[in-house]
Amino acid sequence: MEETYSYLKKIIELTFSQNVWRIAKSINLIASENVMGPLALKVYVSDFMFRYAEGKPFKRYYQGTKLIDELEVLADSLIGKLLDTNLVDLRPVSGTIANASVFRVLAQPGDLAVIAPVQAGAHVSHTKFGTLGALSIKQVEMPYDEENMNVDIDKAVKLIEEVKPKFAVLGGSVYIFPHPVKEIADAVHSVGGYLHYDAAHVLGLIMGKRWHNPLKLGADVLTASTHKTFPGPQGGVIASVNEKLFKSISKTIFPWFVSNHHLHRIPATAITALEMIKFGEKYAEQIVKNAKKLAESLASLGFKVLGEKFGYTKSHQVLVDVRGQGGGAKAAKLLEDANIIVNKNLLPYDTPDKVKDPSGLRLGVQEVTRFGMKEDDMEEIANFMKIILMDKRDPSEVARKVSEFRQKFRTVHYCLREDDLKEINLSGVSTLLDFL
Ligand SMILES: *Cc1c(COP(=O)(O)O)cnc(C)c1O
Repeated sequence: MEETYSYLKKIIELTFSQNVWRIAKSINLIASENVMGPLALKVYVSDFMFRYAEGKPFKRYYQGTKLIDELEVLADSLIGKLLDTNLVDLRPVSGTIANASVFRVLAQPGDLAVIAPVQAGAHVSHTKFGTLGALSIKQVEMPYDEENMNVDIDKAVKLIEEVKPKFAVLGGSVYIFPHPVKEIADAVHSVGGYLHYDAAHVLGLIMGKRWHNPLKLGADVLTASTHKTFPGPQGGVIASVNEKLFKSISKTIFPWFVSNHHLHRIPATAITALEMIKFGEKYAEQIVKNAKKLAESLASLGFKVLGEKFGYTKSHQVLVDVRGQGGGAKAAKLLEDANIIVNKNLLPYDTPDKVKDPSGLRLGVQEVTRFGMKEDDMEEIANFMKIILMDKRDPSEVARKVSEFRQKFRTVHYCLREDDLKEINLSGVSTLLDFL
């Protein structure tokens, strides 16, 4: 075969096989992922993916931006409606870039921030190994309360009063119970600092009113990814309730951290926001029910599930200690071989050197919920996990059963669809693929 065609074959095969494997055959329990609905996808592939629009809507440095200007203002305002603020900026292309833009405004290199401890789920971008470190902002961790699996409020307040940080960060990547926003906000405000809440994981739960809105409890600024429990395209967002602070952050995103903001995200994010306005409460309610049910089912089958004292979870996540099943690395690989995709994870009592083979698994139910799974289906998933990890059945045998089960959940729920376009006159407009 001519070289071009052999490469082409490879590229097409790998890409299309991914679709089949991860959407049609596997149960995806990665807690930071999700899928867009069909209409969001329809607008995602558009001419906007070829364009630039540096600057803010209606104040750009480029010509040709009048349609993205209007769309971006609309998308910002729909996100704002869901968070109850009119200060929203969707230009950060990811949650990490959103964090960088905020951190850089809240503190200068050499200044001090107080962060939630890694045990309470802090993201790498909050640490010296990630974005805060890259910005030369020093950090101290709030003390952790093992019994409550959360930030130790009293000790954290004392620490903040003592070290007087420029800002504190709450929110994280591995957490099943909400962090104490109000108490930390009061403490950091009392020393003249700000509270930054990183809602990357829980944005969809906040919008669906199943997780507290930190902006209502004293957080000055919120950042998030737009593709975790909020089921939109990969991207980032910043929202605030402090106009002055928001203005400085908005001025920092471009030109410091973003030039091109991947414009095709914007209409897809706007459609996802519409879906959250229409279906968000039902979606979030089902996520939380499913997570709890998955945790309970796993526990009843003999797994060591964290957080029992408080009902296992209040988020989309379930944390399981699988040391008894060979450890996190081995368990995650066995599950993958059976088409159940999870990630191994450090648990609060793991030391950092265990990162390659931690004690736990982190499971997230937001994507399977979006595909229509309910509580009964969580029992099935728990059972598959038992067969693989406890009964030690050959994963390749179980893989086929998992795929059969997965076939029952092929459409995305809680979303707008093609039928909804019937109401709308579409003469004079076209999809990109009609042209190319
Ligand atoms: C996922 C995550 C991020 C990073 O988001 P990206 O969009 O992947 O850059 C930041 N903070 C937290 C808490 C996260 O979980």
